[in-house]
Amino acid sequence: MEKFKSYYLAPEELNKIFDYFKTRGYKIAGPTVKDNAIVYDEIESVNDLPLGWTDEQGPGSYRLKRRNDEALFGYVVGPHSWKKFLFPPILTLWEAKRENGKFKIYEQNYSEEKFVFVGVRACEISAILIQDKIFGGGQYVDPNYLRRRENAFIIAVNCNEPGNNCFCLSTGTGPKVLTGYDIVLTEVISESGHYLIAKPGSDLGEEILASLGFREATTQEIDEADKVSNEAVNKFRKEVDLSDVVEMLQSNYENPLWEKVSEKCLTCANCTMVCPTCFCHTVEDVTDLTGQSAKRVRKWDSCFTLEFSYIHGGSVRYSTASRYRQWMTHKLSTWKNQFGMIGCVGCGRCITWCPVGIDIVENVKLFKESELKLKTGESYGRGNT
Ligand code: SF4
Ligand code: SF4
Repeated sequence: MEKFKSYYLAPEELNKIFDYFKTRGYKIAGPTVKDNAIVYDEIESVNDLPLGWTDEQGPGSYRLKRRNDEALFGYVVGPHSWKKFLFPPILTLWEAKRENGKFKIYEQNYSEEKFVFVGVRACEISAILIQDKIFGGGQYVDPNYLRRRENAFIIAVNCNEPGNNCFCLSTGTGPKVLTGYDIVLTEVISESGHYLIAKPGSDLGEEILASLGFREATTQEIDEADKVSNEAVNKFRKEVDLSDVVEMLQSNYENPLWEKVSEKCLTCANCTMVCPTCFCHTVEDVTDLTGQSAKRVRKWDSCFTLEFSYIHGGSVRYSTASRYRQWMTHKLSTWKNQFGMIGCVGCGRCITWCPVGIDIVENVKLFKESELKLKTGESYGRGNT
């Protein structure tokens, strides 16, 4: 028997949940249309969601298109991810100010901002759980991340229609939301109407749904919602077998194929900026021209820059191929040795937002082909000796 009941919400009734949190000091962060894309930003109400919009994606391409309905969540993922709230792109760690002839250090002010994340996809929850391990596991933890994470309430949404670049089915991280949420929504648009089925995933989620007076969903409504979200698995256009990818990439460091798969790469770092799991960062000290203050700032960084691997007098990864190899091998292989899982959740952002359309899935397939050719060649060779 299910631990929690499911509730029926008319689309505009999401505002009741937003208002509940707003009166308790939370900000609502959700998808909204801005600069011709669906981005994550602070929103006020259901009207700020991308009502009636969808996104059409391909390698190196992203377009917004009107839908022929008023779906709230009828798109997949855009250039932003939730890491911008939990692991901000720029963060001041401490500041020093000259006061009465001495410098006074002002320590990092941990964010007390509380956020409700609205419309979090299954792949994105997996990405958050991965970053929880990076910033919250092991000997050294990031208190700033942990504080923001503790203060986040997650309203997830099941994907009804994967995008062209989505491959979460292959990474085992979607399309259905199974864990890590406070409330999960399934959006239904059918002959019976346009509604949301809301299922709690935490005691707080249950408490809120019950206290706001939503009615319990009927068995028929729950079945209809399950059918919509279960059918999503049959709609994937991008799939790849990743069962041997960890070993495969580690045994292909010297494969000349790295030159070919990275020959168009501009080392622009877009793929790492949009990736919801990439966590590399640098620390810079900045002083003002008057000498009155200085600060230490943490900024997102990328393994695609030359400076990233700079060690006393030179960069370790000088060529583009070596940087692309580092990124792809870390994502899909050595990350597993480090954190116990691969670092890719199949969201497809790096494919969409790569200006030259380099496709990580197609590249895995090229390495598989190369391995196969090698094996066939070997057995042919043995057969002839
Ligand atoms: S590597 Fe690409 S597909 Fe995988 S999680 Fe990062 S952006 Fe998404
Ligand atoms: S793979 Fe694409 S997005 Fe990533 S650094 Fe190269 S050109 Fe930029």
